[in-house]
Amino acid sequence: MKRIDFLQRASAFLGAGFLVSSFSSARESAVILENSPFSLPALGYSFNALEPHIDAMTMEIHHDRHHKAYVDNLNKALIGTAGAGVSLEELLGQISKQPAVVRNNGGGHWNHSFFWKILGPAKGSQPSAKLAAQIQKDLGGMEAMKVEFAKAATGRFGSGWAWVIWKDGKLQITSTANQDNPLMDVVENRGIPVLAIDVWEHAYYLKYQNKRADYIQAFWNVINWDFVSQQFEKINL
Ligand code: MN
Repeated sequence: MKRIDFLQRASAFLGAGFLVSSFSSARESAVILENSPFSLPALGYSFNALEPHIDAMTMEIHHDRHHKAYVDNLNKALIGTAGAGVSLEELLGQISKQPAVVRNNGGGHWNHSFFWKILGPAKGSQPSAKLAAQIQKDLGGMEAMKVEFAKAATGRFGSGWAWVIWKDGKLQITSTANQDNPLMDVVENRGIPVLAIDVWEHAYYLKYQNKRADYIQAFWNVINWDFVSQQFEKINL
């Protein structure tokens, strides 16, 4: 779609005021550059690339079945609606105006697309100097961040996500229920995601069963800090 067509459609759907106020944060957080209909992104590495921390079968089912279902159900739900042809970040910013099926599957598509990029084969990557300094300043350093992040992730009752977000000029830790995320206008703690962990049982149950804390601990071994640092620096240009 030509940009002018998109702006006209988005403007009609969202109202001109929203475009002015929210375009910058939507662009900063963008991990899905297409407008609907959406497609399942490639994982970018093999299913067994995160072994032994996250097992191949979990990755295959998680990506090929769970994530695919979110994409398929989202596309189906948007057909013939005002949300068709709009970017996912724009939809999430006004998700209160959408039905639950778009909230659940739209969140599911964005969250998993982000999660696959955060994860990666262990290559000894480290946070950039700029990100490391911000973690030190706002969260007391890497070890303190891990403790607080694990508390948010284990403390989320049932299914959901834990996040490090950029909000009010600093890094903060939060969590959301189900497939909600900090880009949505319905969550308590809105911000731009920098880091996330999926704590739905489908993300860890085959290998870790009920031991969510062990999975969260293992997660730190398979983070692609190059991507996370880029995400942070994109927000803070
Ligand atoms: Mn999941």
